[in-house]
Amino acid sequence: MPELPEIVCRAREMNEELAGRRIRAVAVKQPKCLNVPVAEFARGLSGARVRGVTNRGKWLFVDTSSGHLLLNLGMGGEILLVPSDDLPEVWRVRLDLDRKQSLSVNFWWFGYAHYIAAGRLDEHSMPAALGPNVLDVSLAEFRRLLRGRRGAVKPFLLDQSNLAGIGNAYIHDILFRARLHPLEPLTSLSPKAVRRLHGAIAKELRRSIAKGGAFYEVDLHGHPGGFRETDLLVGYREGKPCPACGTPVVKIKTGSTASFLCPRCQPLSG
Ligand SMILES: [Zn+2]
Repeated sequence: MPELPEIVCRAREMNEELAGRRIRAVAVKQPKCLNVPVAEFARGLSGARVRGVTNRGKWLFVDTSSGHLLLNLGMGGEILLVPSDDLPEVWRVRLDLDRKQSLSVNFWWFGYAHYIAAGRLDEHSMPAALGPNVLDVSLAEFRRLLRGRRGAVKPFLLDQSNLAGIGNAYIHDILFRARLHPLEPLTSLSPKAVRRLHGAIAKELRRSIAKGGAFYEVDLHGHPGGFRETDLLVGYREGKPCPACGTPVVKIKTGSTASFLCPRCQPLSG
């Protein structure tokens, strides 16, 4: 499942490859993933010129001369830039571009391709429900977001309405680097611990971004990312030695999710 590092990498590549290019035609094989009728979607984007591509949380924002295309890969999928006469076998939405290339979008299960007319982005309900991009949040803003909040640190970080971008793949190593137990109550975090956590989020997500994201997702040309299982610190490494102290990593149940942690480096203090 793509998380923030993978989506940041896709947005960068798409921006580099697509900015300035013309969308000649649009085709849709999975109308259910759209927010508008197929005809409106196609009319909105056909002939538009791509201005740039960014991301907010796991949403890709393709800004064009006649509105916005918002993509969300859901549980996973591929966005591939291919010759128009050599399309992949499976695709859900396709943008035919200039230079005889197409952008083929496939969702493994279900994703979203939404069209928003120019000037109406604020009305779109899903991005509006997202908190700020986690990598754009300063330490001061992070402290403000945490102020007066109850509950444990892990569910707070995973709730996309607080902060957009942290998912299950990276949360374990973020908490390990911050030396925090997933169930540590927010009210017991010291100012020092908050600073450590803020730094750990950026460090862990950027470590993957620098490698092109996780190996199980592919770039626009079908090449897998360079962040591999062996790059993980404690995540999904039950029984393996903690990289800091050698204590075996444990897997515990935390609410409805599983957590991987070092019991010695990440004691529960609250
Ligand atoms: Zn340890």
